[in-house]
Amino acid sequence: MSAPASPRVMAVYGTRPEAIKTAPLVRLLQEDPRLDVTVVVTGQHPELVERVNATFGIAADHDLAVMRPGQTLHELGATMLSRLGALLAQDRPDAVLVHGDTSTAAVAALAAYYAGIPVVHLEAGLRSGDLASPFPEEGNRRIIGRLAALHLAPTEGALVNLLGEDVDPETVVVTGNTVIDALHMTLGTPAAFADERIAAAVDGDQQIVLVTAHRREAWSGGIAEVAQALHDVLEAHGDVRVVLPLHPNPVVRGAIRPILGDHPRAILCEPLDYPEFSHLMAASTVIVTDSGGVQEEAPSIGVPVLVTRDTTERPEAIQAGAARLVGTDRESVAAALSALLDDEAARTRMAQAPSPYGDGLAARRALAAIGEFLGCGQRLPGFEPSDEKPVRARRRTAPRTDDLAISALPLPDLG
Ligand code: UDP
Repeated sequence: MSAPASPRVMAVYGTRPEAIKTAPLVRLLQEDPRLDVTVVVTGQHPELVERVNATFGIAADHDLAVMRPGQTLHELGATMLSRLGALLAQDRPDAVLVHGDTSTAAVAALAAYYAGIPVVHLEAGLRSGDLASPFPEEGNRRIIGRLAALHLAPTEGALVNLLGEDVDPETVVVTGNTVIDALHMTLGTPAAFADERIAAAVDGDQQIVLVTAHRREAWSGGIAEVAQALHDVLEAHGDVRVVLPLHPNPVVRGAIRPILGDHPRAILCEPLDYPEFSHLMAASTVIVTDSGGVQEEAPSIGVPVLVTRDTTERPEAIQAGAARLVGTDRESVAAALSALLDDEAARTRMAQAPSPYGDGLAARRALAAIGEFLGCGQRLPGFEPSDEKPVRARRRTAPRTDDLAISALPLPDLG
């Protein structure tokens, strides 16, 4: 008689942040003999996801290739729903794993629900409380929260949010955020900077302000305001370099390039591969970002973050003093960034604030919870933050590569 088949998890993702945060769990699922995993990429960020998969040694089993130039959210959602519906009908996994709050995640959850397949939600329970910001992520994550059968919440705060929406506490596990696992995996290995301008900046004496910007709700003005603020700061601080890997979206690029494109101390570049970006984060004096993932990563390596948004679903770093919410208004952003660049003591206080998001073991907790859910394992104790930085980055005010000692700390024993 043949052995019964292992339960099968279908992991579906489409964007860079989902790929980075799902990768540590996919790797564990691949190594676990009790479970099978199928990887489906939808193609929302095709090249970026391929590069993340390559970084983590993951090959997609299916590529739905849904992206078309100028496509509306409705068209994107409709194409994904129909292609995923067909794939689920053919493949019939035992669970569908989605991450976070993208259109891919919301539509994949809906497709699984329509097919009667349970949804496992990684990074569950984040809420900004404002459906308009971040848009459409807040709506997407609330939809998934209603449909999921297992909620893998990164923090206690996310658990509280879910309980506030009457989610059954038995279905929620606090895992920590898998992005800290991903950082562990990349910062332990040295990375070379392919862009000579960035290599020179990291090697030089100037302060590095690393910037990312892409939020849809800031397309109509916020991103240009932030770019103006960065220009103002560059003019006022001759010792500062801005490094800004441009999001592929043409609207974002069109807002930033006319303002910063010609500045001699602004380095606008293509998106960096995750290992390079991680090492650049660790070499930066301050990070200015509207990214969700970067808000989580920076406190874990002790780099102060200014969050260019009006609301955040990641309040923990702000409460801990590691991050500040500065909005997108030109004057406020410029004032906050200038003040921080001029105040080493304030930067040190932010750098030393506790890191609330993970300890590098989130994927192991998630795997254990999925194993229990599918009847072949047992949950592990939940994540509790500690004051220790999960990943150590030792930097000077003016970093140099030879003084850039980065090490992934040994992981605590989960018992
Ligand atoms: N990131 C990267 N290369 C870059 C910029 C960002 O690998 O040039 C990583 C970053 O470390 C984080 C993720 O991409 O893990 C964040 O992606 P994004 O800001 O697009 O999405 P969000 O986190 O806001 O959902």
